[in-house]
Amino acid sequence: MSDFYISLKNKYNYSDDFMIVLQRVIDALIKYYGESFRKRILSMMLDVNIHVKESFEDSNLYISEFLGVYENHLPYDTIFGYATTRPFYKNGVINSKSIIYLTEKIDVDDVMSYSVLVHELCHFVKQTPFYVSRDKIYGGTGLQTEVYNFDGCLIEKFNTSFEEASNTFDEVNVMNILTDFKYDLSSKNSNYYFSYEFFSDLVDYMRKFDQNFQFNIIDKGISYLISTFSSYGVQVLNYFFDMCIEMNYRMNNGKVVDKNKLYETFYVLTESFNRKNLYEKYDFSCNMIKFEKID
Ligand SMILES: [Zn+2]
Repeated sequence: MSDFYISLKNKYNYSDDFMIVLQRVIDALIKYYGESFRKRILSMMLDVNIHVKESFEDSNLYISEFLGVYENHLPYDTIFGYATTRPFYKNGVINSKSIIYLTEKIDVDDVMSYSVLVHELCHFVKQTPFYVSRDKIYGGTGLQTEVYNFDGCLIEKFNTSFEEASNTFDEVNVMNILTDFKYDLSSKNSNYYFSYEFFSDLVDYMRKFDQNFQFNIIDKGISYLISTFSSYGVQVLNYFFDMCIEMNYRMNNGKVVDKNKLYETFYVLTESFNRKNLYEKYDFSCNMIKFEKID
């Protein structure tokens, strides 16, 4: 084991099996995001404590105590993973604490079981530095923007669904590296499956205008996306990905969903972005599918 892996193992007291998992995942992340992200990925691994739920443990309490932030971190029992970095501001300095909390065990011999860990780490790779403005701390994870108070409590977040779509795209690509292209998200009961499909279509759509468009080149991909669609366009797409998650959730709970409506909306959105002036006047809400509240 290299010095890096020895210090990682010692810092968090990870088991030998878990170190094998981490080495495989780290290699795949570097392969996907590129060699220029090696330093960033290694230092991120040293910053984040990865914890697998013990059977007797109260998940919310564990996370709250670890961070020193008492919130309802896991509002649904269907969440398999949770990743957060909380910033704290005192005497002019921002400190932070990071955790990935996994509710399902990872089997070192079953690479498919790595997917939630991979998903959460992909969020972390795209984290931008925190800064203070007025009496709040601002940060970001990929396309998502977050606002915290000085004690690390979340006040608001924006573009979460769009970030989940983009991050699931990364998850699938990294899992394909790990499984030799045998990863099948559709068999996983994921609430992000529709989001992933439409996000892949969006990437193909953007390649029509720029053949070199690579979403996985993190900073460049995201700023390119925002400059192409404007921040308003990003919000509209986020709204669309909200719908995808809602539809997916309904489908996973045995409800019949009409996916053609999503295709129609997606078509209108992408065509409108192509003629930029249109989407400023266009009322997207009339084309959106109206949902009743989830029961
Ligand atoms: Zn996620």
